[in-house]
Amino acid sequence: MQKKLDLSTNVQFLHGVGPVRARSLSRLGINCVDDLLMHFPRTWLDRSSATPISELVVDSNATVCGEVLTSGGRSGRGRKSIQSVTIGDRGGVLTCTWFGQPYITKQLQTGMKILVSGKVQLHNSRPQFVHPDFEVLTSESTKLHSGRLVPVYPLTSGIGQHWLRGLTYRTLEQFSNEITEFLPGSLLRKHKLQNRRAALQNMHFPEDEASRTEAQKRFIYEEIAMIQALMGLRKSGHTTNSGIKLHKPGDLTTRLVNGLPFQLTSAQRKVLGDILRDMRTGLPMHRLLQGDVGSGKTLVALLAALFVIEQGWQATIMAPTEVLARQHGESILKLIEPLGISMEVLTGSTPSAQRRKITASAGNGEIDLLVGTHALLGDDVCLPNLGLAVVDEQHRFGVIQRGNASKVESSTPHVLVMSATPIPRSLSLTLYGDLDLSLIDELPPGRKPVQTDLIQPAQLDSMHGLVCNRVKNGQQAYVIYPVIEETEGQDIKSATEEFEKLSQGVFSDFNVALLHGRIKGSDKAEIMSRFAAGEIDILIATTVIEVGVDVANSTTMVIHHPERFGLAQLHQLRGRVGRGELQSWCHLVLDKWVAPESFERIRFFASTNDGFKLAEEDLRRRGPGDIMGVRQHGLPTFSVANPIRDAELVKLCSQDIKELLDADPRLSSEYNRAFKNRIESSFKQLFIHSAG
Ligand code: ADP
Ligand code: MG
Repeated sequence: MQKKLDLSTNVQFLHGVGPVRARSLSRLGINCVDDLLMHFPRTWLDRSSATPISELVVDSNATVCGEVLTSGGRSGRGRKSIQSVTIGDRGGVLTCTWFGQPYITKQLQTGMKILVSGKVQLHNSRPQFVHPDFEVLTSESTKLHSGRLVPVYPLTSGIGQHWLRGLTYRTLEQFSNEITEFLPGSLLRKHKLQNRRAALQNMHFPEDEASRTEAQKRFIYEEIAMIQALMGLRKSGHTTNSGIKLHKPGDLTTRLVNGLPFQLTSAQRKVLGDILRDMRTGLPMHRLLQGDVGSGKTLVALLAALFVIEQGWQATIMAPTEVLARQHGESILKLIEPLGISMEVLTGSTPSAQRRKITASAGNGEIDLLVGTHALLGDDVCLPNLGLAVVDEQHRFGVIQRGNASKVESSTPHVLVMSATPIPRSLSLTLYGDLDLSLIDELPPGRKPVQTDLIQPAQLDSMHGLVCNRVKNGQQAYVIYPVIEETEGQDIKSATEEFEKLSQGVFSDFNVALLHGRIKGSDKAEIMSRFAAGEIDILIATTVIEVGVDVANSTTMVIHHPERFGLAQLHQLRGRVGRGELQSWCHLVLDKWVAPESFERIRFFASTNDGFKLAEEDLRRRGPGDIMGVRQHGLPTFSVANPIRDAELVKLCSQDIKELLDADPRLSSEYNRAFKNRIESSFKQLFIHSAG
């Protein structure tokens, strides 16, 4: 007898899949049957209503049904080939154009009946689609899905649209009885949500527009509900472990604050208050500290660390890059030298003999503060008395070990995560509302906002003139390129080539250095410290300097090919200047031709220095899939919901989940158990993280 298949069955065992296709599917995140059913269409073609070519309206989206008249390719400018297919119906002719996709002309042959959807453009006074979605009409496809909305899925190589659609169709039928509901019935009734089985059916093969919209609503709600419940469970999970209970701030913290050449800003003081309060509750702190670039987060971290150290515990500060770890090490050393605290820096390029020495004394509890990179997560690193782990600009979670010698086996160290990449407010408030979050919403006094401008190719010389003048006056500059070396056939300037040109050309009077990711760690550190000491005037670099580098004397940031960077990255780069009392500039050097969408993004970036505004805009532009900052914070992300578009539903849902958790904090009742199980299996990794 055949083994019964269920939703957790590997797709490889589905009829017509097999190991090779299964491997391709896994690139789409599809491993089991459930994944396949949750692989939603990116759009639907409305087969029931094709527009006659003669009635197409420029700039609107339309679907056309016609016959392939001609199909051919030619080589275009640069290295890309151009594929051109003309399609005719009774009243007109439409051109469809693709770039660099030679297989299209093999697929679309004269005489075929096809359906194409795209945005109508005008080219040589004829309607044109560029990179349209298309569907060849065969008798089977017409039979299988005619007269309805047809799903169009995200694909990968080896997986065809038609094949995937057929597979999904059959799988839905075959597993229909296995699809069970997990959202609590009360919530479904309250919002009149479709049940899971119907919603899946309507998501893939909707009867009509209305049922598709309802199905989408259900999955949006489901997604938000799961994330809200996850955050709620995590939070109550925290309250079950004990943390390290600390007392009032002591002598060290006070002495450091008194010895500073400046006063803490009120935002820094407020945030520090949050942190110290957390650590005195006896529960483990897990706080996210957001503060724009230059707002002084490092000092807050150091004060928090001292607070822990002065009560006999150890602390770590982990930075994402070598450059940054060393920089933290140096600036912290200056501050704590008079306090008699032992600190070491540990990175990937620490020589092994020294590493052994450091790990040994850390293991004995002799080191109070250990600063470093991910090297801190190594198996040989043990901090028996770890009381606080600070993670600066974190990009992934990890577990810092306490080892067996820990005097506090049962308690969890406090964790402080810092980031200059804000989670958009609309997200953090409504979605992650329960996250402990502190905000440094004020820059140290005397800072002047960075002036940002767009430099057209013709203005490059005069911009260089300005930069040279500033450098002659003793200021420093960064010049950033998106790549280390040039790639043949691509028109992108690179740090290495431009370094050669600039250091022998316009910048020949100055000390110019090159910094990028392929330079050895210790050399990188040396270049950075010479730059910090003012021995280097101009640093030509890639984004290795993106995060956290702090040299107050550098007042100019030149960014080449800004279109190649996301808003978050641009913001980080610009944050490297404007860190002192001098006026600073950020020059965005434009190419001759920049795509309109990129141009708009760059212009928007130039119009504001506000990290939160940029984050909101990023969210609006890129949608929910890859929200700026969210991944970095290790928070779950969205695939169907769009927190801005769905703000109303988010609000309702968070209220629902709050009530649900108030009544049943562990979701352990009979009614909620299926929901809880689903959350745990969907966010396995996150559960492991929070346990660590
Ligand atoms: P970020 O928040 O980007 O990590 P940093 O911690 O690197 O910012 O701080 C930026 C600079 O501001 C550092 O040189 C730091 O010494 C300085 N700084 C921090 N707090 C203050 C303050 N209250 N007043 C003046 N300067 C400050
Ligand atoms: Mg920093």
